[in-house]
Amino acid sequence: NLEEQVEAIETRLDGPTHPCRGRQAYVTLATNDTYGLGCLVLGESLRRVGTTKELVVMVTRHVSDAMRHSLEKTFDHVKLFDLLDSNDAGNLALLQRPELGVTLTKIHCWTLTEYRRAVFLDADTMVVRNCDELFDQYQEFSAAPDVGWPDCFNSGVFVYKPSLATYRSILAFAVKNGSFDGGDQGLLNMYFSDWARGSIKKHLPFIYNMVASIVYTYQPAFRLNADQVKIIHFLGPVKPWHWQYDIQGRCLMSDTGSLGDAGDLLTLWWNILISRAMPNIEAGVTGLAGE
Ligand code: UDP
Ligand code: MN
Repeated sequence: NLEEQVEAIETRLDGPTHPCRGRQAYVTLATNDTYGLGCLVLGESLRRVGTTKELVVMVTRHVSDAMRHSLEKTFDHVKLFDLLDSNDAGNLALLQRPELGVTLTKIHCWTLTEYRRAVFLDADTMVVRNCDELFDQYQEFSAAPDVGWPDCFNSGVFVYKPSLATYRSILAFAVKNGSFDGGDQGLLNMYFSDWARGSIKKHLPFIYNMVASIVYTYQPAFRLNADQVKIIHFLGPVKPWHWQYDIQGRCLMSDTGSLGDAGDLLTLWWNILISRAMPNIEAGVTGLAGE
């Protein structure tokens, strides 16, 4: 069928050796300094595993200048987005729906059309092994199952194709239909609604969006696959930056015994923050952990 033929052509164009292969980037988002801290660790985690892709962070004006300058040391591009200043008619309509604020900022990732293919990563993710193959092996829209409801994908990690047409189409869809959970995950699951029953090629393996809590909810599976895992997602209300860390002792201050292996992942996040991100953080950042 036509869709499969188009996909085959796209795959060839995006192939690692094709001369027309365009730019590719990992993209993340921060709307404040606290999430900016997450982006710093995510970006450094990608550098640490030797990615060859460009790193882009989308920020809004609530992110301090100091944090933007800090981000510039890790990311190739720090891009400012501001829904309120936009002349885009779709955006104006969306201002009527303030509950979709942060959600819609994430959707801006489709406007990065200088990239042929991109991978969006939440600011609360951490890359522990090189996963650059995502760009060659997956197409829009690929994501991993959500642990709460596996027929929904989790929108913290996804492979997509920047396109203004898609961007406008998602915005128009959002204005009309909203989001069943009020966030980007609900909206994107409604928009890419054939994901659960569509092509399995668009289901990312769980190793690309391993929710940290799985470490204790299904520990044998985690143990079996631990050395395959590539991207950790600290999903949920308690983020790594909410923990207290002993810089001298290089360990978490709270008792992480009950966390088991999840404690090791948290410690790794903090080690990347202290040893790789901290040296880049400029004075004046407002979102430092504990504040
Ligand atoms: N985000 C942000 N500011 C906020 C909330 C969210 O920049 O106040 C961005 C950030 O990139 C974050 C993503 O939106 O990782 C999704 O939110 P979160 O990770 O907190 O949701 P969860 O994965 O826990 O459902
Ligand atoms: Mn997240």
